[in-house]
Amino acid sequence: MATDYKIPFDTFHNVINNELVSTSTTRQAINPSTEEPLWDSPVSTQEHVDKAVSAARAAWPAWKKLSQDERAAYLNKFADAIEANQEAFVELIGKEAGKPPQAAGFEFFLTMASARETPKLRLKEEKPEDNEDRTAIVRYVPLGVGVGIVPWNFPLALGNGKLIPALLAGNTFIWKPSPYTPYSALKLAELGAKVFPPGVFQALAGDDSLGPMLTTHPGVNKISFTGSTATGKKIMAACAGTVKRLTLEMGGNDAAIICDDVDIEKVAAKIAFLAFVHTGQICMDAKRIYVHEKIYDEFLTAMVAATKQFKVGDSTDAEAFFGPIQNKMQYEKLHDLYSEINKQNWKVALGGIPEPTTSKGYFMPPTIIDNPPEDSRIVVEEPFGPIVPLLKWSDEDDVISRANDSELGLGASVWSKDVEKAKRMAEQLEAGSIWVNTHFEVAPNVPFGGHKQSGLGMDWGEVGLKGWCNPQAYWIKHSGV
Ligand code: NAD
Repeated sequence: MATDYKIPFDTFHNVINNELVSTSTTRQAINPSTEEPLWDSPVSTQEHVDKAVSAARAAWPAWKKLSQDERAAYLNKFADAIEANQEAFVELIGKEAGKPPQAAGFEFFLTMASARETPKLRLKEEKPEDNEDRTAIVRYVPLGVGVGIVPWNFPLALGNGKLIPALLAGNTFIWKPSPYTPYSALKLAELGAKVFPPGVFQALAGDDSLGPMLTTHPGVNKISFTGSTATGKKIMAACAGTVKRLTLEMGGNDAAIICDDVDIEKVAAKIAFLAFVHTGQICMDAKRIYVHEKIYDEFLTAMVAATKQFKVGDSTDAEAFFGPIQNKMQYEKLHDLYSEINKQNWKVALGGIPEPTTSKGYFMPPTIIDNPPEDSRIVVEEPFGPIVPLLKWSDEDDVISRANDSELGLGASVWSKDVEKAKRMAEQLEAGSIWVNTHFEVAPNVPFGGHKQSGLGMDWGEVGLKGWCNPQAYWIKHSGV
């Protein structure tokens, strides 16, 4: 049965009302490992947007009338369809996002986790008032047409984490991928066309003009965005005109606080992984590592040694941990940040400014900066690349206030053998996810999102599912009139 869902992975179209639609203009994204152009991908116009929005609106009444169990049954078939194309998706993510096979496999694993686990969730009604005279029910009703705006670092998993709850809650959905990584989303929507009724799940790719066409469209009821804080603010402003519902998942500058009692080798290896996984291009990577001064030198040495174990390679290298930076824009931003090393005399424990090279691919050297000033760019800004600062601390209250001294608040962690002490410290951190003795731990049934300028609302879990609904107060008088 599963083979029925096999699709070709070398042609890419918009998916509108279950039809594969070409556009008169096309563009090609770049493979960041080779700097070679990839396949043609659509450039959508206002006409494509209008068609997709009206198909989504037309599909909504029948889709929302289905029970949650009926919609979950569609979603389970969809999960089978994704799984049937596992190898092709892993290869495609490797090429478009520059992920070595291990990283692409990890993204596919996250995608399947939300495809399989989210349909098990259910929206539940609450009854805050229930007596002989009257009952008040709080129920959660779908919004209508949802749009997912997705970044390039997890082109498949992050959009899927919006799509599945949106559909389960009874909305129809249009996926807008990043222009840097348009391909896997279009394939996913092509699979969706084999499973869902027309107009339920559509995808439109394009250039920078596409996002604003969707955020201002009067037929769209909700935008769920993942990307940078700067773009999130623009989207929030654009949505004001039509009072669209909004979930924003934005930038992070996560602190990890390491206490003086930890097993240094073990924790340094874990932190090296958590700071550099996907080459530092994850919103929830550990980005400011505060190490107690008593163990600072030993921890720094151990983290440098652990980082050196991680191999650099491209999307064909099964052993590689570090891949390239996903795109030239981000690569150039990182060159600018690395150039501060000399300008500000930061101490480099590993890596440093890259040597000029003629070889292809947007590769940057894994770099650890040794105790830079707290107000330096490497501490204050989100680098979104393989460069991380280690910072010294000695006083508990002081390190908590330094960790909280950021406009961002996505995640934060505390590491200690003394779990009660770590909990006491973690509970004072201002972030959407706080962790004790771990970091970047996520699951499809647990919400994730940011506080402060890292986010608004949350994706995933019951909280995420409710985010795809309007709460509705429903009053019933029990005496007939
Ligand atoms: P980005 O903000 O540049 O782009 C994200 C998406 O928004 C893309 O699809 C882009 O085309 C679209 N977009 C850009 N301008 C738009 C506009 N005016 N209107 C509508 N859409 C518009 O972000 P990026 O560079 O792709 O991703 C990196 C950033 O994303 C980092 O800051 C990272 O921390 C953040 N991120 C956050 C999370 C999270 O869950 N909090 C997860 C991953 C990445």
